Amino acid sequence: MIKIRTDKNTNCHLCDNQGIILYKDLTDSQGLIDGSWDMYQCKECSLLWLNPRTIPEDIPKLYPRTYYTHAKDHRSKLGLIYDALLSSVVKTHGGYGRDAAIRSRIGWFLGLIPIVKTAALRSTLFVTGPPRGTHLDVGCGSGLWLKKTKKLGWNTLGIDHDKEAIAIARKFGLHVLYGNMENSAIESNSIEIVTARHVLEHVLEPRTFLKECLRVLKPGGRAIIITPNIESYGAQTFSRHWRGFEPPRHLYLFSVKSLALCAKSAGFNIETCTTLTISAFRMAMRSYQIKNQKRNVSWSIKIRSLIFMMQEAILNAFEKRRGEEVLLIATKPDAQVNEVLTS
Ligand SMILES: [Zn+2]
Repeated sequence: MIKIRTDKNTNCHLCDNQGIILYKDLTDSQGLIDGSWDMYQCKECSLLWLNPRTIPEDIPKLYPRTYYTHAKDHRSKLGLIYDALLSSVVKTHGGYGRDAAIRSRIGWFLGLIPIVKTAALRSTLFVTGPPRGTHLDVGCGSGLWLKKTKKLGWNTLGIDHDKEAIAIARKFGLHVLYGNMENSAIESNSIEIVTARHVLEHVLEPRTFLKECLRVLKPGGRAIIITPNIESYGAQTFSRHWRGFEPPRHLYLFSVKSLALCAKSAGFNIETCTTLTISAFRMAMRSYQIKNQKRNVSWSIKIRSLIFMMQEAILNAFEKRRGEEVLLIATKPDAQVNEVLTS
């Protein structure tokens, strides 16, 4: 097992309040990193964080070559048909225009089902049309999402710290930078949309990360963030075995409240902050695996995960904050607003 150096982290990143311990002695469910960690929570803003925390120099050690980061894009025939259907829903319900073709009509009808529409829009990270500039995907991996938005007509740019994943993305002709958002040389006011899917929970300073997103965005540009939801039905049901904890790689965990607060304090205007249930089935399966310490997924686990997904969808229809993921869509205030505020 890999040993890492840590330091203490007892106060809230957003409010500086001293946290209370919510879970003690969590361990790496993937068995890669040696040690145990506590999860602290801020009573004021509900943010959760890991204590002790890996020191910045040892962060790369958290992601050894055996860690599953960015899967290669292998799709079965059924998967390809599913992708094509979602793509036709995105085009007709995501602002890319409808036409008289049969595929377009099918997409439009399917998109009338709310869960299908959400699944489709999530498959392109809620990057809606019409294409009007550059889409930057932070933590883009092998470029799965950038390939889709490029096809929809966007200029695309990616950034990632996984050299192998970048090499795959570049083979597809994508422009991808190596590194982190915090040390990127991306020009200020140059990007229309920044997406970061399951990235914010991994960074040392979420507010600094969001400020950097704000810097590169054009005024009126949009940041779209997806991250695990600590108030989800899954977190409540699976408790310390919930897949979303993933110590020691997840340094922070958000709720609707704390993510909106973090984005506001970074300077964003909040357009939408809600939760998604799309990943409930996968999250439940992995949480059952962690709980039962099993590598294989039995039919019993699949059936229980399916029931769990339906339960969460019903619960979230009433409470709107119980889905497995928080979705934040926030905009950069335009220059005129900034001038008014600072004058
Ligand atoms: Zn706080």
